[in-house]
Amino acid sequence: MKNITKGYINGEFVTLHGTQIFNLINPTNHQPVGQVTLGDEEDVQRAIAAAKTAFKSFSQTSVATRIQLLENLKQAVNKREKELIEVMILEYGGTRQFCTMSLQNAIASFDNMITTLRHFEFQRKSGNTFIQLTPVGVVGIITPWNSSNSFICSKLATAIAAGCTVVVKPSEMSALQTELLTACFHEAGLPKGVYNMVNGLGNVVGTAITNHPDIAKISFTGSTVTGKQIARSAVDTVKRVTLELGGKSPNIILEDADFEQAIPQAVFGAYMNSGQACIAPTRLLVPKDRLETVNQLAKAAAAHVVVGNPADAATNVGPMVSEKQFERVQHYIQVGLDEGATLLAGGPGKPAGLEEGNFVKATIFTNVRNDMRIAQEEIFGPVLSIIPYENEEDAITIANDTMYGLAAYVTSANEARALKVASRIDAGRVCINGFKHDPMAPFGGFKQSGLGREFGVYGLEEYLEPKSILL
Ligand code: NDP
Repeated sequence: MKNITKGYINGEFVTLHGTQIFNLINPTNHQPVGQVTLGDEEDVQRAIAAAKTAFKSFSQTSVATRIQLLENLKQAVNKREKELIEVMILEYGGTRQFCTMSLQNAIASFDNMITTLRHFEFQRKSGNTFIQLTPVGVVGIITPWNSSNSFICSKLATAIAAGCTVVVKPSEMSALQTELLTACFHEAGLPKGVYNMVNGLGNVVGTAITNHPDIAKISFTGSTVTGKQIARSAVDTVKRVTLELGGKSPNIILEDADFEQAIPQAVFGAYMNSGQACIAPTRLLVPKDRLETVNQLAKAAAAHVVVGNPADAATNVGPMVSEKQFERVQHYIQVGLDEGATLLAGGPGKPAGLEEGNFVKATIFTNVRNDMRIAQEEIFGPVLSIIPYENEEDAITIANDTMYGLAAYVTSANEARALKVASRIDAGRVCINGFKHDPMAPFGGFKQSGLGREFGVYGLEEYLEPKSILL
């Protein structure tokens, strides 16, 4: 049991003014693993004041200084990678496979920003006008629980590259992970006030950050519902916002694809991060006249999905982060049954022998219509919907018939054809023939999946204000 009573303000771990306690529960077996004291408005005030003071000098630092700090951060996080993975498995229940990849991404985000900085032009010319890209100010960073440390590292790296200072509010369910990560940041020797962190509830600490006039920008990752609330509050002080929100990503398998390879890949892909992934390909779009073959292949693949202890290297699907999330996924499985979708694998209840934790059966529905709730709403659990289409045109229409537009996937034997289809899909990222990641390519959503972009040059520009100087 770990008792976390402190936040991190102005370069030190400090006792918070808030007194409310939140219990940290291991999602694998429901055993208590710690407690965290939640901050309040007064703690947010202190953190923002520290960040505001630090901004005065940090915004003036050279690119070389920022590169050195990013290098220090990378080394400090890298040194404790193994511990960070273990605490993520313990507190979040992420699989070892996923947590390892997530930490690698977290560490790589410092290098990615170093590379971006080396080529970035903070001073440009447009006609006769001299353009300066200046840091936007103090940034409020608000993150969810499903890959907490990698979100914090990537947003912090970008803020530092831009010359901004930050106040972070992580999910309170990630408190053990954030404390260890913060210890790494402390060791990296950031100037006082550049990084501040206050644990607390969204409607207390999150709201206080969003409403505060000294916060110039919010970088948020989380649900679309919360993202909209944040955008509304941000309007009063005309804050800049970057919103990385939910998804219901289509995975189009064209009829010329190798189904023996593509369908199992699609099933395992839908269960990435135990299904708690915004980019998970949860709508599998397949040719109607091949549905029987797809069903057989998908069912066989589901039988190979290992649901269980996330610490085991072979596990593909761990527990849901909380009982609330477990109940949400169960609710959607029932909705799918009530809507008349055909259950192909999994279903309601916990898998046998895993009653102690928040485990969900690896579930597949087939004969799903795109207007069903299970095809339209983000479930955020290991539930895949197979949706038949008539022809390529129909597949594109179905893919785009959603309020979301974060990611999409296209598989075809003909890359040029897949590219043509990809160019007609309304999504911020489309992967062809597999699940791919490019940390330098812009990441973000079309439609209600978000606003703005993260990563690389596009991500950095979101933390900067262009100033035109007319000579
Ligand atoms: P939430 O939107 O519920 O919460 C995200 C963060 O926002 C939490 O820290 C939360 O605090 C905080 N928050 C809640 N209400 C407010 C508020 N009114 N003002 C300010 N902050 C607030 O998301 P979840 O934690 O449930 O995470 C899952 C969601 O995140 C999914 O919908 C998923 O799609 C999305 N997501 C998007 C990604 C992307 O890159 N597009 C990546 C990963 C996830 P608290 O914990 O106290 O509620």
